[in-house]
Amino acid sequence: MSDERDARTAGTSEGAFEVAGSVVAGTSGGSGSGRAGEPGGNPGREPGRGSLPGRVLVLNSGSSSLKYRLLSGAERLASGTVERIGEPGSPVPDQRAALEAVAARLAADGLGLDSPELTAIGHRVVHGGTAFTRPTLITDEVVRGIEELVPLAPLHNPANLAGIEVARRLRPDLPQVAVFDTAFHATIPPAASTYAIDREVAARLGVRRYGFHGTSHAYVSREAALLAGGPEANVIVLHLGNGASASAVSAGRCVDTSMGMTPLEGLVMGTRSGDLDPAVVLHLARAGGMSLDEVDTLLNRRSGMLGLSGDNDMRTVTERLAEGDPEAELAVSVYCHRLRKYVGAYYAVLGTVDVIAFTGGVGENSALIRERALAGLGALGVTVDPARNARGDTLVSADGGAVKVAVIPTDEEFEIARQTLSVVSRTNRG
Ligand code: ADP
Repeated sequence: MSDERDARTAGTSEGAFEVAGSVVAGTSGGSGSGRAGEPGGNPGREPGRGSLPGRVLVLNSGSSSLKYRLLSGAERLASGTVERIGEPGSPVPDQRAALEAVAARLAADGLGLDSPELTAIGHRVVHGGTAFTRPTLITDEVVRGIEELVPLAPLHNPANLAGIEVARRLRPDLPQVAVFDTAFHATIPPAASTYAIDREVAARLGVRRYGFHGTSHAYVSREAALLAGGPEANVIVLHLGNGASASAVSAGRCVDTSMGMTPLEGLVMGTRSGDLDPAVVLHLARAGGMSLDEVDTLLNRRSGMLGLSGDNDMRTVTERLAEGDPEAELAVSVYCHRLRKYVGAYYAVLGTVDVIAFTGGVGENSALIRERALAGLGALGVTVDPARNARGDTLVSADGGAVKVAVIPTDEEFEIARQTLSVVSRTNRG
């Protein structure tokens, strides 16, 4: 299934077609978020990323969705999403049915899972804890290790495991690799990863900062370093999607990141609060009579831009802002103030900064957020050129600024495929 064929089948560049009554959306452009540089999809080799020696199926199994992408070298052969898995009334009861639907779809286009050309399957796994700090060849023991981490990621790891289990049953002979969202942040030093609470309690319950969005931070920081002349560069990555996180990366090693034990900490997000005084939780329970589940829902699903403005979609919020809506103005102010604080903090952590890279749906597409987040940082050598920023050029900083400001579309699936193949070639050599 080529992207063009996808488009023909569906009649649109992001069409939907039925698989056993379920929706498989064949996308022809990245995550479907309208990434800069991928207008309507542009399959084929993408410059500057080298080639991958092999064909990899990347699977991202969520609690109610299965996203897939088939890559050959740097070329995207197929991609799409099965949605509403296991939801009431959905004809797709579980991950097994979803992956079988994907396999049938790929087979119809001569790209089936049984193809001898398929080199490996790469699985996104959200939480690797302290046990998995690198992409890892999946064995029964690794599956047990991922299971042991379920208490740290009760929604995500079980869904990831379901995808792994089904894929291993379908192709037991094929190398399958787990690529962890937390792994890139494993290099964060104890000073940044340790919460200042009782050490025995923290150790017993795994309470420490892990960080997330690791494949995106790895990919974007590497691309950003190339803009600064090489891998030794110091980079701040601002991944701004529905979830959002910042990272400080020095010579390819992550030294700090804004998400913590869970993805709730740090920046203001679509529906998550990001940083707040932990005593707010106690107050909500004691004075507000809220249960733990209610507080969980409030902070993870009803806060952030949604809580502040009533809309979690940054496009809508910035449109309302342009019309003078005061709630949207406050929400954007809070969002950008938090971003600026993290940029300043990571400047201090790194000492010097070569590149600040914006990525994710908001970071790649919103000139307004980029401009407001970095406003007033001229004394640090951080500038934003209005015309370049409005166009969304790769470099949006003014000439001569000490710090390059870049817009770099993320590509987590490519990074998962890259890491998967690095494990396979290491295993073959070893
Ligand atoms: P996810 O984290 O789910 O992968 P994305 O990285 O696709 O999400 O980012 C989604 C966010 O990007 C949404 O809030 C969306 O409104 C925002 N976005 C996309 N395009 C624009 C734009 N032109 N201006 C502002 N925000 C945008």
